Amino acid sequence: MKKIVIASNNAGKLREFRAILEPFGLEVISQREAGFTEDVDETGTTFAENAALKARAVFEKLHCPVIADDSGLMVDALDGAPGVYSHRFAGENATDDDRNAKLLRELENVPEAQRTAQFVCVLCYVNADGTEEQKFTGICEGRIGTQARGENGFGYDPLFYVNGISMAEMTEAEKNQISHRGRALEQLKEYFENRSQSC
Ligand code: IMP
Repeated sequence: MKKIVIASNNAGKLREFRAILEPFGLEVISQREAGFTEDVDETGTTFAENAALKARAVFEKLHCPVIADDSGLMVDALDGAPGVYSHRFAGENATDDDRNAKLLRELENVPEAQRTAQFVCVLCYVNADGTEEQKFTGICEGRIGTQARGENGFGYDPLFYVNGISMAEMTEAEKNQISHRGRALEQLKEYFENRSQSC
């Protein structure tokens, strides 16, 4: 099986990558499992810049195929925030619950019709010798609910509703079908298929 390193240690993201890429014949390993323990400063102002920063940092150290994911939530009533700051929205050491509580507070007086939002994911793939870099973007449209629901998924999933169901109420397979990451990964898979090679 060909190995591919995911430039992340986020257990939620890794589960989703495994579910989507393993049936495709790829062994998915986290950057920590691959021996990359540094923190990459996400200094970019776009998801694409940050995805490339993470992919290149891991590639430079390990010299193997890498996929980096930079993703987050853009809330229309907050002018696109938290965006690239989704992870840092409630401070560096905050938990998912802290971030979700802060989001609910910020949207306290925002009516249902104006609670539209998008999850965005940019994947950056760097091939085995670093000569190719490809980016794929996936977007999932939804709404921010007024209460958290569901136990699955991670991050903002309990507050992000698509057709009345929160992403944390969906099974992993259901989420992957419609999610920003699932959509970006579909494009990556197509890219691999068209080149008739995996990495
Ligand atoms: P980063 O890509 O590691 O900078 O983190 C992005 C942050 O966005 C995560 O820590 C989550 O809070 C949030 N996020 C990204 N993707 C998802 C998702 O699929 N569900 C819920 N939250 C997400």
